[in-house]
Amino acid sequence: MEIKKNTIFICTLWMLFIATSFGWNYIQMKKEQEELALHAARTLFELIINTCRWNILHGSVYVPVTHTTLPSPWLKEPLRDIKVNDSLTLTKINHACMTRQISEVAMKQNGIEFHFTSLHPIRPENKATEHEKAFLQESGTDIREVGLFINNKNKRSFLYMTRLNAKKPCLPCHDNHDYKEGDVIGGISITIPITQKNSYGPLLLAHIGIALTGLLGILVSGVRLNRAYATIQRQAVFDSLTGIPNRQSFSEHIVTEFSRSNRTNEPLAVIMCDIDHFKAYNDTYGHASGDECLKKVAQTIDQTLERPGDFCARYGGEEFVVILTDTSHNGAMHIAEKIRSNILDLQIVHKKAFPLQFITLSLGVATSIDQPLTSHEELLKNADTALYLAKANGRNRVESFTDMPQALESEQDSDGLFCSDSGA
Ligand code: GH3
Ligand code: MG
Ligand code: MG
Repeated sequence: MEIKKNTIFICTLWMLFIATSFGWNYIQMKKEQEELALHAARTLFELIINTCRWNILHGSVYVPVTHTTLPSPWLKEPLRDIKVNDSLTLTKINHACMTRQISEVAMKQNGIEFHFTSLHPIRPENKATEHEKAFLQESGTDIREVGLFINNKNKRSFLYMTRLNAKKPCLPCHDNHDYKEGDVIGGISITIPITQKNSYGPLLLAHIGIALTGLLGILVSGVRLNRAYATIQRQAVFDSLTGIPNRQSFSEHIVTEFSRSNRTNEPLAVIMCDIDHFKAYNDTYGHASGDECLKKVAQTIDQTLERPGDFCARYGGEEFVVILTDTSHNGAMHIAEKIRSNILDLQIVHKKAFPLQFITLSLGVATSIDQPLTSHEELLKNADTALYLAKANGRNRVESFTDMPQALESEQDSDGLFCSDSGA
């Protein structure tokens, strides 16, 4: 359960990490795109400004009048047009007009658009768009340039704009606006089309891939860890050979049940079991057969117990112990007898065990009601003493501590011939 919780926690952390990484990379990518676009726009802007400077330097330039280049009605100059001959008339174009024409060429070539704009345009076509107006109206700020991505009719582009301050050569054309040198008379905007699709797709895919691979790794490790933990837990509780609980498990169980019995005043019974002549069985049939025999005996004892509170464990070597809760002396004797006869019924051949020549079990029974007990160790010792009597009386039998003659009891106490830890 703990491992499951930890796995979910690690998965959540991993997903948070991936989401943060995606967010951070996405922001970096956008910044990078913006910087690139800004850099390109500044370069173009410099280019166009230098072209304007060149035009201003020459006090505007003359070009042939064609159907696309007509004399500008906004240019109030006496020498605006020069008729060279019948087929050639030259007209003066100023920097604004020249920029517009360059913009038209650029627009046709690669979609880049230059726009001379103003809040009070001389030419109506130079009227500011919404974005341009917003920027130009931000008077009083020190921001000289702005760059932003805009979406217009599903077309994504980068709009760059700077303010233009009035210079001496500008004033004649703008004389009706009372501009002074240095005033903001408008701005130039550059619109660069962004043909590249919003490229967070590959970034998203890469992150999904990494996230899924990581999640898979965490889940597989979690499942493996869970299995390993379950195995360790099992090994700590169960005996690896017989599959029934081990001695450690028994030690914990008896403490709990003994104190419960003291609290509730319900009788608690313990049965100590020991396979008869097992050393001879091993010597005759080999250790592997001995192991198989131990497994069968353990399973038979386990299957004989029917009530949910009954418990059996491998106590050591070829010894087993049974705990019966809320069980009287007679009830415990009945179960012990059932175990003994079920083991005999297995009919595991043991040629050296006379007279039956089958594997048999000796059992000693003790209950907590028999006499006042101070500890569970005492209960175990009594069951052990009864088992000793069962061995002494010929094996393959059940003896009870309650029915024991006092003489044997005291002999057992002084000699310690059969103690509970003997086979452990
Ligand atoms: P008794 O009837 O008096 O109980 O005689 P016994 O031979 O059963 O008792 P003893 O204590 O002399 O021998 C117990 C034997 O149990 C000795 C040991 O080889 C065997 N044994 C203990 N643990 C295992 C085990 O895990 N596997 C096998 N095959 N034998 C075991
Ligand atoms: Mg034995
Ligand atoms: Mg033994």
